[in-house]
Amino acid sequence: MSTPVRFSDANLTLADFYAEVWAACPACSSKATARADYVLKLARLTCPHCGYHKEVATTLTEKMALVQPAHGYFDAALWLQAPFRDEIFFAYNDRHLAYLEAYIRGTLREHRDRKGFTLLERLPKFYHLAANRKPLLRIIEMLKAKG
Ligand SMILES: [Zn+2]
Repeated sequence: MSTPVRFSDANLTLADFYAEVWAACPACSSKATARADYVLKLARLTCPHCGYHKEVATTLTEKMALVQPAHGYFDAALWLQAPFRDEIFFAYNDRHLAYLEAYIRGTLREHRDRKGFTLLERLPKFYHLAANRKPLLRIIEMLKAKG
């Protein structure tokens, strides 16, 4: 028996990673960053490679705010994503990727008391299967290398 790798759910939700999302630049396809400020109701996408810069309101109408991951305001593709069988493995940013990695590495997964479902509990089944641990960790390494 090998020593179990303990992972304790930090009870994060997907929305905890919405404010900064790594995206493919709509102009040059390099890595760009989309940021959303839900208080100021502004989203911004900037690309350090080609200088692309766009700012939009996060509101649907004057009264209605639309809360979604930052890249969604620009219809931009995620930077950290890869196909896994018939599914897509994705992360919004490096912290999200590291969180998923810690979970997937964990052989002893602990869920603490929480209200509602956490990000991890909402993941599709393929993330949870022990048989997928190695191939998923390979994808994560590949995405980390893509930086
Ligand atoms: Zn660009």
